[in-house]
Amino acid sequence: MATLKDFRNNVKPNWCPGCGDFSVQAAIQRAAANVGLEPEGLAVVSGIGCSGRISGYINAYGFHGIHGRSLPIAQGVKMANRDLTVIASGGDGDGFAIGMGHTVHAIRRNIDVTYIVMDNQIYGLTKGQASPRSAEGFKTKSTPLGTIESAISPLEVAMAAGATFVAQSFSSNLKQLTAVIEAGLNHKGFSLINVFSPCVTFNKVNTYDWFKENIVDLDEIPDYDYTNRVMAMTKIMETNSMLTGIIYQNKEKKSYEDSIPTFAKEGLTKQDLHISEADFNKM
Ligand code: SF4
Ligand code: MG
Repeated sequence: MATLKDFRNNVKPNWCPGCGDFSVQAAIQRAAANVGLEPEGLAVVSGIGCSGRISGYINAYGFHGIHGRSLPIAQGVKMANRDLTVIASGGDGDGFAIGMGHTVHAIRRNIDVTYIVMDNQIYGLTKGQASPRSAEGFKTKSTPLGTIESAISPLEVAMAAGATFVAQSFSSNLKQLTAVIEAGLNHKGFSLINVFSPCVTFNKVNTYDWFKENIVDLDEIPDYDYTNRVMAMTKIMETNSMLTGIIYQNKEKKSYEDSIPTFAKEGLTKQDLHISEADFNKM
């Protein structure tokens, strides 16, 4: 059985010292080992941005895709080989700006992919411009007078799109981050895991200390029921999307691939599929 070290490779990350993405890498490696995966059973697909490098830093199948397109690639990988566990990854600019259309439709499709977003509320790779996650008034090189747009809430968008698994965590809380990734990997359907992953070089507002002061940990909310959709949406709105932990899970809805008869051979006959006995036996 694979252990944590089996998911490590010899590639040295070139993230800035202190970047939150190091913890996301470590948490994925730990979670993969903890849920009993083997490196050859895991594919990590990434988009473009500092976060996009993560697919090269994990010993598994990796695909460094193009900007905002990690989800179409990850969904293609999953449909082509449904025995693989597939992680899609990216940043907040990648997933919630150019890639938002893919994000919404992958969520409502409920395909069995775990999507991990490294949300630093800025574009880091291009040296610090406002992202869709930057708060109104946030000053950057591209918004010297402060951004006039509202920040998007990926949690609210995901809930509205019918997500079956929504979680959020923080790079500074490796224990919780590993646990939510494990839960996402075990979830049969699409999982959105948004991770507050500070950019220490270009975002001097949303720092580790800022997140520590503003995060609301679900473990500290007694009687929270993550299977209750209305409660989840209410808490997300009450906390201005600063909740961390497993926020919502629906285990009842079938995943996309399990809803396609030709992908679920069990219980089907060749008559159901309108194919010959020889072709049916080849499946
Ligand atoms: Fe991380 Fe920011 Fe450095 Fe990119 S620029 S590696 S996001 S700290
Ligand atoms: Mg970003």
